[in-house]
Amino acid sequence: MELYSTNGKSEIVEFREAVLEGLASDGGLFMPRKIPVMSPDFFKHLDSMSLQEISFEVARTLLGGNIPVSALKDIVDSALNFDVPLIHIEDNRYILELFHGPTLAFKDVGARFMARVVSHFAKGPGKELTILVATSGDTGSAVAQGFYNLSGIRVVILYPQSKVSELQEKQLTTVGGNVTALEVEGTFDDCQGMVKEAFQDTSLNGKLSLTSANSINIARLLPQAFYYFYAYAQALKAQPEIRDSRKPLVFSVPSGNFGNLTAGLIAKRMGLPINHFIATTNVNDVVPEYLTGGEFRPRPSKQTISNAMDVGNPSNFDRMLELYNHDIQRMRADITGYSFTDDETRNAIREVYEQDRYIMDPHTAVGNLGLRRYQQSHPDALGISLSTAHPAKFGSIVEPLIGEEIELPQALKESLGREKRSIVVPNSYEALRTFLSSGV
Ligand SMILES: *Cc1c(COP(=O)(O)O)cnc(C)c1O
Repeated sequence: MELYSTNGKSEIVEFREAVLEGLASDGGLFMPRKIPVMSPDFFKHLDSMSLQEISFEVARTLLGGNIPVSALKDIVDSALNFDVPLIHIEDNRYILELFHGPTLAFKDVGARFMARVVSHFAKGPGKELTILVATSGDTGSAVAQGFYNLSGIRVVILYPQSKVSELQEKQLTTVGGNVTALEVEGTFDDCQGMVKEAFQDTSLNGKLSLTSANSINIARLLPQAFYYFYAYAQALKAQPEIRDSRKPLVFSVPSGNFGNLTAGLIAKRMGLPINHFIATTNVNDVVPEYLTGGEFRPRPSKQTISNAMDVGNPSNFDRMLELYNHDIQRMRADITGYSFTDDETRNAIREVYEQDRYIMDPHTAVGNLGLRRYQQSHPDALGISLSTAHPAKFGSIVEPLIGEEIELPQALKESLGREKRSIVVPNSYEALRTFLSSGV
């Protein structure tokens, strides 16, 4: 796979370089030059294949020229070692549960796959690779879990002291092994500033191999296409009419940085018969606004109860534009945007619980709202909304709405029971530099 930069000013690179660099040298995002189409034979047998089998076939089609096939198989099998079930809610409405990984959020898929790809490329003689991440909560734990115990890699996570939830802090600080959590006496922006400075510090980079693991990495994006195929495979069993599009298939994607949605667009380009996408946001609605009004106006984010989607300048928007050659009419033919308030989100959690006994976290609820609005005018479409987090992660919001306690999944119970281990560091780049140089 060859990749170009969305800013168009740096040269074409191979997949390995795109993964290890993260961002193109002109500051743009890497995009595949060509998106391959899956064979008709693959689609014929899809409904009898497992998540791992489907993911491997898609991965091989995308990356078979970049990673030896046997290594790619191991990467897929160990990254996707949990289920992604399609749950029937009512009538034409389904939910794809993406939260059965170790941190109970869909970011596990991208983080685990990327970690194994990075580890594959970093193998062999040479320096240990240091993955440096600043987090405001969820991303850090998905990355930490993703890289846990991979050889040749150490992970250093910076998080702002007292500014993440108790559960998030436990998830960040109890991984152990090759993962160290630095508790910074500052804000998330301070953490991000320290990380940025480390990447620009040439003398430090002469001594260490530093790599970022941020969400714009192409190796986090691509594996998210896998589960769209698997969702389709499961939906085929329930409603075979979607195979030849006698019945339309639509996906509603609760979105923040729009990585999840972009991966769906890539799956469609690879031949998956998806008729339409619904880009659903909370009140941070720059993309729905663009789709209706034609103007892209990034702005500071507003805080909501679906806080992983509080994004005012979505990073994958440039990739979406590239996929449609910057033609808004073509984009509109594939994507409809809706946004919803916190009150609407709370009502949806309550209603779906009362009617269908299904418990949604706030992000999932936003996605479900988008699907329901779309189906008001397209009742015959088979609709799948993506569920991005387990409701127990947002118990303090969800429990009062449904009037019931949510049982914590085993993975959460275990991390709550473990002892927090972090290193408190002052809010200064020197402190980070000293820590990294000491090779702890
Ligand atoms: C990150 C995240 C999202 C948004 O996904 P994008 O790919 O950034 O659009 C939605 N829900 C949850 C729970 C998340 O962690």
